[in-house]
Amino acid sequence: MNLDINLSDMGRTPAARPPASLPLMRLTGASKRYDQGDSVREALRSVDLDIHRGEFAAIVGPSGSGKSALMKMLGLLEAPTSGGYQFQGVPEQSLSTEQRLWLRRRFFGFVPQAFNLLRSTSLQGNVALPLMYRGLSAERCQSAAMRALAVAGLEDQGHKMPDELDSTQQGKAAIARALVCNPSVLLVDSTGPTSDQPLCPHIGGLLRTLNTEHRITVVLVTQQASAGHWAQRTVSLNGGAVEQDISRAAAGALH
Ligand code: ADP
Ligand code: MG
Repeated sequence: MNLDINLSDMGRTPAARPPASLPLMRLTGASKRYDQGDSVREALRSVDLDIHRGEFAAIVGPSGSGKSALMKMLGLLEAPTSGGYQFQGVPEQSLSTEQRLWLRRRFFGFVPQAFNLLRSTSLQGNVALPLMYRGLSAERCQSAAMRALAVAGLEDQGHKMPDELDSTQQGKAAIARALVCNPSVLLVDSTGPTSDQPLCPHIGGLLRTLNTEHRITVVLVTQQASAGHWAQRTVSLNGGAVEQDISRAAAGALH
């Protein structure tokens, strides 16, 4: 998978090829404050975090610890209030709105916590939607959706409506929808409508397969410390700060 950022793709100045040792995503002293008029919420406090291509990182922490804020920052959906974020060596503050959008669409797949599947649309239709928005032909959208559903283990399920599925299958469908644009990085916010359940082994296994076999960098944020079982690395967040960052010596130890 080609991860080189070449902003000339969108008619901009070509970017130099970054060295391979450069982290894919780098937060440096990154803080996020939300101004609420008479009070300020500090979602992230001076976070230093490098995520390299090919990693599967679980970001775990209690509710309100800043997991979603971190995920939005990594996915270029929100900017740090102070400190910096670089995606493949490109400082996010140097990006125009147009470039930010282009990078998001080119590199990232998002799996929101509540899945956000359209209830009145079949699975295939849901998964095809991101490509429809990009103006691809209906035929290409549908065939790509079928492929993404198959990768997520939902082959032969494309005709079903979301309400006909259990929450594991809905999670797989949301993952398929994130995969349909062939992302390099998958950002998964929790794993279901309820946060008090352990990560379903089918979802954990699927994310691991996407990481090891499809070479997709995976960042999973969740309240469930046990989700670290599926990842090579567990980063614990508390009160918006990184408390612990533990890597497994070898991915082989997982199997
Ligand atoms: P988590 O995903 O770990 O539950 P969040 O990243 O959603 O935590 O939120 C971290 C903190 O930032 C919380 O105190 C939350 O209330 C606050 N916060 C998050 N988003 C906003 C926002 N848009 N406006 C105000 N406060 C916010
Ligand atoms: Mg959250």
